[in-house]
Amino acid sequence: MPLRETAPKLPAEQYEQNFADITPAYNSRQAAIEAARCLYCFDAPCTQACPTHIDVPAFIKKIMTFNPRGSARVILEANILGQSCGRVCPTEVLCEGACVMHEKGELPIQIGRLQRYAVDYVLDRKIQLFRAGAPNGKKVACIGSGPASLACAAELARAGYAVTIFDKNEWPGGLNTYGIAAYKTRAHDSLREVELVRSLGVEFRQKIEIPRDISFADLEKQFDAIFLGVGLGETWTLNLPGEDLHGVYGAIEFIERTKAEPFPEVEVGRRVACIGAGNTAIDVVTAARRLAAETVYLVYRRGEREMPAFAYEYEIAKKDGVVFLWQTHPVRILGENGVVTGVECVRTELGAPDGKRRRSPRPIPGTEFTLNVDMVVRAVGQMPVTEFLRAIPSLALNKDGTVVVNDRHQTGNPKYFAGGDCANGGKEVVDAVAEGMSAAHSLDVFLGKPRG
Ligand SMILES: Cc1cc2nc3c(=O)[nH]c(=O)nc-3n(C[C@H](O)[C@H](O)[C@H](O)COP(=O)(O)OP(=O)(O)OC[C@H]3O[C@@H](n4cnc5c(N)ncnc54)[C@H](O)[C@@H]3O)c2cc1C
Ligand code: SF4
Repeated sequence: MPLRETAPKLPAEQYEQNFADITPAYNSRQAAIEAARCLYCFDAPCTQACPTHIDVPAFIKKIMTFNPRGSARVILEANILGQSCGRVCPTEVLCEGACVMHEKGELPIQIGRLQRYAVDYVLDRKIQLFRAGAPNGKKVACIGSGPASLACAAELARAGYAVTIFDKNEWPGGLNTYGIAAYKTRAHDSLREVELVRSLGVEFRQKIEIPRDISFADLEKQFDAIFLGVGLGETWTLNLPGEDLHGVYGAIEFIERTKAEPFPEVEVGRRVACIGAGNTAIDVVTAARRLAAETVYLVYRRGEREMPAFAYEYEIAKKDGVVFLWQTHPVRILGENGVVTGVECVRTELGAPDGKRRRSPRPIPGTEFTLNVDMVVRAVGQMPVTEFLRAIPSLALNKDGTVVVNDRHQTGNPKYFAGGDCANGGKEVVDAVAEGMSAAHSLDVFLGKPRG
């Protein structure tokens, strides 16, 4: 069934322009000039701010001395997904946010772009920096092929483990492939990085859903230990009347189409309302505008100050001409003949701060109004994969449905380790990588092969 009205179609090259890289790659000269600005700080705060603790001054120095290969080695030793992190990390609040250049009133060193330059150098040339370790006879299964599992698998493979990754999707890479905004990274960038992990001998088995296709009992028989890197699930529903109308999408479902389908084929309404104000909501509204939606509303029941999205993400959406409706609460989704035609909203006032120190919104009676839209996107967070996790014996779950792990990333069932969004509730790629690597080190100890 078609939407009531769709956005006008653009020439193919216009879509490519709209989704062009938001931070274009450096050439070697630009990279060397930027690297020369670095002060190579002792106890570098940028390194401390990075969850994977990449030795930033060391890799930057190697760029300055025209040694991108050596630079990439420094990065990938600490973070095998250094390529995607160079593109998608919120560097403004991590390494670059901590850079001492701020204190001098200067622009921080562009660490993300330098990192990307070095790693792209080796990936473009298919330079193999690492090899699988000598086989130690132990086998580990990773469920999910997102950043957490990729990092865990790479680390284990380098230590001599036979690692098999199972993923229900057609392509590996998790949200790096299917989720993150196309103007930061494309599916093919993610798949190129996956090849780095495959080159270490890691086996990928796609379109296998656990436990539907292989039971946990069978996995436990075949493998010495199991890493859970299953991320989070579908977008939460709004529980509003009209949510089943055609034209109401979950954020993940909509964004996935912008990553997996050619841009001209992604159907988008002429007018779109996105409910929510986190980073995912920003990805939705900016994608909708870049796909030529004429009017895109971001509807948030609290105010601008309470918006959970990072400030620099908000700036992107402002530049894209998104209309922000603060203190606005959706009441029902309206439709005709089964298709979305609008959203009824009410204005809110903000009361006392709640447990998370965010002021609670209260509807103001008599302020109801209708937004005339052809598509509604829910962007109010992802559900945990509780059903999946509950099917594993002895696994304890937190109140929010994430899996309980100890400081070694081991779950209540000693044979299972976990990391990434399914354990931390949804953070960033670099956190998933850090947890996946840390879990690999714990698995190594658990399986009796302590590192020398
Ligand atoms: C829209 C969006 C935009 C984001 N943008 C950014 C960003 O710009 N920068 C950033 O750093 N982070 C961003 N993030 C967060 C980041 O993508 C995640 O933190 C990261 O991908 C988590 O990695 P993961 O490996 O834990 O899970 P995921 O990447 O979600 O991977 C989980 C994998 O497990 C598979 N799986 C799940 N269940 C099963 C099963 N039963 N059997 C087999 N396979 C299964 C899934 O198919 C998936 O491939 C974004 C997230 C979203 C949703
Ligand atoms: S804090 Fe800034 S200047 Fe210092 S080492 Fe890191 S990137 Fe270089």
